[in-house]
Formats: sequence, C-alpha cells, structure tokens
Amino acid sequence: MIMNNTGLSTPISKLGRVGAKTAVLFNKLGIHTCKDLLFYFPFRFDDFSHVIPISEATAGTEVTIRARIQLVNNRRSARTRKIVTEAIVADDSGSIRVVWFNQPYLMKNLAVGDEVYLSGKTSDHFLDLQLTSPVYEKIYAHQETLHTARLVPIYSLTGSLTQKQFRTVLGNAIARFGDEIEEWIPADIIAHEQLPGRVEALRAIHFPENKDQCAAATLRMKFEELFRLQVYSAQQRSQLLGQKAYAVALNTRETDAIFSRIPFTLTGAQKQALKEIMDDIEKSHPMNRLLEGDVGSGKTVVASVIAAIMTLAGYQSAIMAPTEILAQQHYQSLLKFLGPMGITCAIITGSQAISSVSPVRKEEESQKKVSKQKERQAVYDQVEQGEVNVVIGTHALIQERMKFFRLGFAVVDEQHRFGVNQRKALREKNPDEEMPHLLSMTATPIPRSLALTLYGDLDVSILNELPQGRLPIITKVVPNSYREWTYDFIKQQIHSGRQVFIICPLIDPSDTLGYKSVKEEFERLSRDIFPGFTMGMLHGKMKPVEKEAVMRTMVEGSIQILVATSVVEVGVDIPNATVMLIEGADRFGLAQLHQFRGRVGRGADQSYCFLMPGNEEKESTERLAIVASCTDGFVLAEKDLELRGSGDILGTVQSGMPTLAFATLHDTALIQKAHAYARDYIGRINEFPEMKEEIASFAQGVHLE
Ligand code: ADP
Ligand code: MG
Repeated sequence: MIMNNTGLSTPISKLGRVGAKTAVLFNKLGIHTCKDLLFYFPFRFDDFSHVIPISEATAGTEVTIRARIQLVNNRRSARTRKIVTEAIVADDSGSIRVVWFNQPYLMKNLAVGDEVYLSGKTSDHFLDLQLTSPVYEKIYAHQETLHTARLVPIYSLTGSLTQKQFRTVLGNAIARFGDEIEEWIPADIIAHEQLPGRVEALRAIHFPENKDQCAAATLRMKFEELFRLQVYSAQQRSQLLGQKAYAVALNTRETDAIFSRIPFTLTGAQKQALKEIMDDIEKSHPMNRLLEGDVGSGKTVVASVIAAIMTLAGYQSAIMAPTEILAQQHYQSLLKFLGPMGITCAIITGSQAISSVSPVRKEEESQKKVSKQKERQAVYDQVEQGEVNVVIGTHALIQERMKFFRLGFAVVDEQHRFGVNQRKALREKNPDEEMPHLLSMTATPIPRSLALTLYGDLDVSILNELPQGRLPIITKVVPNSYREWTYDFIKQQIHSGRQVFIICPLIDPSDTLGYKSVKEEFERLSRDIFPGFTMGMLHGKMKPVEKEAVMRTMVEGSIQILVATSVVEVGVDIPNATVMLIEGADRFGLAQLHQFRGRVGRGADQSYCFLMPGNEEKESTERLAIVASCTDGFVLAEKDLELRGSGDILGTVQSGMPTLAFATLHDTALIQKAHAYARDYIGRINEFPEMKEEIASFAQGVHLE
C-alpha cells in the first residue's frame, strides 16, 4: 500500500524557521528529512506540568507559573556592564520579579499585557522572590504549549541550536505531517497488548500530556523496536527453513557404535544436545543451532560425534575456527577420536594444508620436494573427491577456491553465528543444491534475553554441566598487600613445571586511569620480580601473525608467564597452565572474568585464579567475590546484566547489534512477547504489507553478521 507520504520526506531545510545555517546543525544530528526529525527522540523530560499560583512559590524551587507581564525593560548592570532584562509579572494571587541576562532581544518578544508561562528556578532577592532566567512561552488561545506548563522534552543538540528552536520546528512538523506516519504492527497485536497507535505514540513520545501517556508511548516504542528485530530474525529463520539440506538417515546400530567409542560417560547436557542436533539433521531443511557451554563443557566432543555420524551417513563435515592455533587443536583432538574409526581429517589454514588420508604422495615427497602449492592443491582435491571426511580450518575454508563433497554439517567455533554470506559461500561450494546443517559453538555465556534479541533466529542447546571429576578452580580475591605472596606462589608453580597467565586491563601505561598496562607490567615483572623466567607479552595492537606466534610458544610450553590483555584467546587449550592472575579485575565484567578463568583448569593439576582489584573499595571487592563463589557462566552473565547493564556483555558478544533507543535487555518479558508474536505472524507476513515493508527497509540497514 503506497500512501502519499511525501510530507515526511520534506528536507529539513524546507521546514519553517529553518534557515541554511540551522539546517546544517540539524544535519549534524543526522536529521535530513522531516521523518528523521520525528524519529529523533528526547533523552529526558523536564516536568513543568504543575502550574502554581505565584503566592505559593518559595525560594530555591523549580516552578511554573502562568502570569501577565506588567512591566518589562532592559537595563545595563552597573557591576557587570551586561544587559539585564527585568520584568514584573502577576497572576490573581500575587506578583514576582523576573530577570534574564544577556538576552536583549527578549524585549522584541515580550510586551506589557502578554500572557506567558514561565518555568524556572526561584531565589531570594533582598526581601523579594525572584525568578531567574526562566523558560518563557507566550500563551495563545487554542494552542498547546511546547516549552512550559507541561512535560517538556529535552533533546541532545549541537552548536547554537536551542531546545526551544528545536521543539518549535519539531512541533510544527508533527502538526503538519504526523498523520502520515504509518502503523505497521498488525492491528490484532496493538489491540491485544493495548498499545497506543504509532501516530499517537510518536506525538506522545515528544509532547506527552502526562506521565501515563508518556509511559504508554514508551512501551509502544520499546515493543516496536523489539518486534521489528524479532520479525527480522524470524524471517531469516524461515528463509533458511525454506532451503534444502541433506536429510540424514540415522542408523541406530551405527550411532550406537560411535557412542560406544567415546572414552568417557557423556554428561546429561551433552546427551540432550546430541539428541536435539540429531533430531535436526534428520530433517530436509538446514539446522541452525547455537551450542553454548562453558569452556571444557564438551562442545567439541558433541561436534565430533555428529561429524562421525555424518561420515557414516556419507556426508562431509567442516569445522571452522577463528585462529590457526584453535584450528590445529581441533584437528588434533578430532583426529585422535575419529582416526581410529577410520575417519579421515584435513586441516586447511592460511599457512598449512594437511590431511590424514593415506600417504599417497609419500614416495613422491621423498624423491623431490613437492611444492607447498602442490601439496595444498592435493588436499583440496582430496576434499573435493570426498576422500577427506572432516575438514578443519580457519576462514580459509570459505575464502579460498575450495570445493566440498556433499558437505552436510558445518560448525563455527567462537564466532556466534553463521552470517548470510558464509551460508551462501558454503552452499555454493557444495556440488548439490543442499545447504549444510549449521552449528555455532560458543563459550560466551549469553543471558537469555540477549540470546533472544541477538540470536532469535537460532535454536539453542546449552551445556550447563561440566564433566565429572574436574577439579574446581580455586578462585580468590587478593588484595594488593598479598602481592608478594602471590608472586612467590607463582614462582613455586613454575618451579613445578606449570605455566601462568597475568591479565592487565590496559595495553599502554596511563597516568589517569591508575590501572596496570601490559607493556609496563611486562617490563617490571621481567626485571624486578621474575628475572630468569621466560615471559611473553600479548595484546591487541600486535599483528595477527605476531599474536599467533606468541600463543603458539605458550601452547608449546616455552613461555612460563604470559602477560596479556583480554585478547588472550577463548578456547585455546593449555592444560599445563594453572595460574590466572587478573590485575585491575574490577575493570572487567563478571562473565569476562569467568572467561579468563577458563584459560586454566584444563589439565589434571589443581588450578588457581587470583582476582586483584585496582582499588580496594568495598563495592569492587564484593562484586569480585561473586566470581570467586560462583562457577556458572550463565549465572554470572545474568548478574552482569543486573549490575552493570548490557554494555559489557554486548561488548564481548557482538558489536554489530542494532542500537535500541528505548528497549533494553532488562525488558525480558517484552522481548519474549515480541519473539513469540514474531514467530506466530511470520508465516502470514504477506497479509501484512506494512509490516513486510517495514522489515524490508530495516533489513537493508542491518547486517547481523
Ligand atoms: P569445549 O569445546 O566445550 O571447551 P571439549 O569438548 O574440548 O570442551 O572438552 C574439554 C575436555 O574435556 C576434552 O579433553 C574432552 O575430551 C573432555 N571431555 C568432554 N566431555 C567429557 C565428559 N563427558 N567426561 C569426561 N571428559 C570429557
Ligand atoms: Mg572449545
């Protein structure tokens, strides 16, 4: 339905009272059209709604009065030489003196006899009460006020643009074009949730009549944001469900045989996740599932079992890791589990391409050095021919010119989701029409409200149980006074052959923040505390190859103490590392501290995590004590959300999140409601052209990659 909404696209410069210079200021705020203006929201309201008689005004309070001007003139202050505009105004109850400084032009607007609202702060002036620099607004019959005697919206502005000017332009724009705003949420939902309509809500969000109306409008705007996001997710999901995938015929005898090869008892959570995945891969549309679980909860094992099942059913699998080291660790652990079953693996990264397929080229290799290029090509060929069953690698897997052989199962580790482009690339690499079943794995604990907001299109399996027999990591909040003791403890651990991580909040020294930096601490520790030990340094300003090299040295055991920022990689397995010391621990979110802690405790030895706050305020220590007493990443993530808001978590999870102006991750019930409605309505989206159009234009603006 195309409506005549040309008014909304009116350039801001064409609106009344906006000259060329003012237009530039509006543009700076991202406001180019009338529509942009209507969707530029206030960040708070001044409550001037309560109008009182002058006689009730007392000194030192914010008041709004309605009065008639009895006297007004400009004079020059004897002391400061500045222009002072003075007025006496009166209502039926009394009169009050009013002053403004340095605004001589006020005399042009205000005249004796004018009726005005005045909102501002009162003070004692000798024995009289005075109103200083109030916001004023002339009263005209039949015209609503914008600046006084109401809840007055306050906007974030720029340059010389004033609140009053902005409100006037906006007020006019809403009056002229507000009705052109189209409703896009289905009427049933609006009615059922008793939400105000879009036009009504938009008016009220700027110029509410009272607090209730403001609250109702805010709720509507929150719902609108969340519902838009959820419909978009639901649409992504249904598009994927509409695609073809290999429906895997599961054979109980074969799967049992695979399960019997697992050298330990699966946790209940692992069994449940495996069941959910197996149910998905039997279907003829692609799975799109997120497997969440703390480090060490056994995600890789789950992926390996599915890869084995896939192999027996005649399909290839691919596992993609964010770095070469992680890819290598996956390759080694998969080979160890799958190799004995006769399943072949290959690893393909930027720097290597190796496969476990029978050593066909062994003789060739000994005769003459096979060029690296040829070797790589040979592995590509093995993959394309299907001689390789499971391919492990980095982004090289989708970027390079490689082809798969009936790729039925694709896993991304620590990347949170498959992007639209990755999915497309994978399908194009398959010889058939089919898209592989997709599994994303992450050790980042994501609170439910966030998961629904960001990953509403994914199904989620959660490993919330650690395998039995793990030694819990001993976590302590350590005050600065125990620093020497801590360093001695670290030395002892290294003497018994262990390795240590030290995390600092900053890369470069900072005078103002008072927190430790990697560079400074690395210097100091190598010189004064740990001379004679091998130390390494890792931070985000290093090149990827440099980081990889340091991480590799740590994995190989040659570095005894690694001083690093938060870049220290999620998922890398260093069973020999037993101490994690976190400096300035109060700077990090709880879930993030938990992530750091997960770098240790992966071997048979007892591991330790020391949290050293940068300040010894009670609040920081108490917050850190939560990490010391809780080992559940999900609980910590929820706590983070509660204590520090969503910023932290969003930062660690995903930067590309579309910004929400009204809703927050605390709006859990509303998020769930929007999610449920979206899944309910998506199948009928064609019946709601306005909704369809809204989502299409939203989709152009977001890339949830
Ligand atoms: P994640 O990928 O979630 O970090 P992994 O799958 O790499 O976890 O498992 C971590 C370690 O625990 C591996 O050495 C793995 O063999 C072992 N493991 C996994 N599941 C179990 C289990 N149910 N019982 C005992 N050990 C397990
Ligand atoms: Mg892992």
